[in-house]
Amino acid sequence: MTTLPTPRGALTPDRPLSDLTWLRVGGPADWLFQPADEADLAEFLAVLPPGVPVFPMGVGSNLIVRDGGIRAVVIRLGRGFNGITVEGGRVTAGAAALDAHVARKAAEAGRDLTFLRTIPGSIGGAVRMNAGCYGHYVADFLEEIRIVTRSGQIETLPAAALNLRYRQSDLPDGAVVIGATFNAPAGDPAALAARMEDQLAKRDASQPTKDRSAGSTFRNPLGRSSTGAADDTHELKAWKVIDEAGMRGARIGGAQMSEMHSNFLINAGGATAADLENLGEEVRKRVFQHSGITLEWEIMRVGEPATK
Ligand SMILES: Cc1cc2nc3c(=O)[nH]c(=O)nc-3n(C[C@H](O)[C@H](O)[C@H](O)COP(=O)(O)OP(=O)(O)OC[C@H]3O[C@@H](n4cnc5c(N)ncnc54)[C@H](O)[C@@H]3O)c2cc1C
Repeated sequence: MTTLPTPRGALTPDRPLSDLTWLRVGGPADWLFQPADEADLAEFLAVLPPGVPVFPMGVGSNLIVRDGGIRAVVIRLGRGFNGITVEGGRVTAGAAALDAHVARKAAEAGRDLTFLRTIPGSIGGAVRMNAGCYGHYVADFLEEIRIVTRSGQIETLPAAALNLRYRQSDLPDGAVVIGATFNAPAGDPAALAARMEDQLAKRDASQPTKDRSAGSTFRNPLGRSSTGAADDTHELKAWKVIDEAGMRGARIGGAQMSEMHSNFLINAGGATAADLENLGEEVRKRVFQHSGITLEWEIMRVGEPATK
């Protein structure tokens, strides 16, 4: 068995991940590493044997971790990485800061990152996924990010280097995002606060925000790229084609396509990762049979199935 370096932060072998994901499923990580701070993370990665895979995770709001778990060092950033500073229009946040906190703190300082308010992830996950809603995406405001490379170097990358597009980005392999700086437009704090309240209410009215989910399950078949508005108003929504294929409310085991929003896959109680993934695959099959459209997963599925 590989011997791992001893960090200052917590390094836990064979750590179940289900309590760290929104869907509450998933087997163990070989190791879970929660670095104390940037230097701890950089030093650990510099001496970690290059053959050992690493998987950075945020707060698990876009993940199905399979039941057999992840054969890697899973890196989860915490307290040492959640600072938020606002200097003029520059909002800088640690990768572990929650999107909602960043939106609120920016708004209090008269800066508009309100689009982040209702996204339940962390800034690291937001950068990786080019998270967005209500017409705005990370790509619209991101200036630069800081990463620790797999070999332990701390680097700054301009947003342009990430090729941010619909729910995707190009991060160097094995890189961990440790922080991000946004250029945020000015706004009146009271108006920004009111807009965020509206967004929360809108979301609660249209999405199963109280259920265990990972947000939208599939990408909209013609996702808008955040670089242009030409295809912004397309009609082809994943929830619509799922409805048309008769899959709203469909179940496998404890997994269900939400009755409230048919593109939300939920753990309705006691689901395994296999239930969730199998239901998603069944939906893809039925939608293809019905409309010839191949839905693509937006939820990232990681790790290995359970061994029988
Ligand atoms: C109820 C609900 C509503 C949602 N609504 C939206 C929405 O409106 N818009 C939207 O875009 N998304 C939405 N999502 C999905 C999800 O919140 C976003 O994709 C979010 O950005 C994921 O962040 P996370 O911290 O949870 O990342 P995780 O789910 O933990 O990880 C997602 C990906 O990011 C990578 N990652 C995470 N942190 C780092 C890091 N520090 N360095 C490198 N890579 C990292 C992981 O490796 C993984 O590939 C929703 C989810 C839920 C549950």
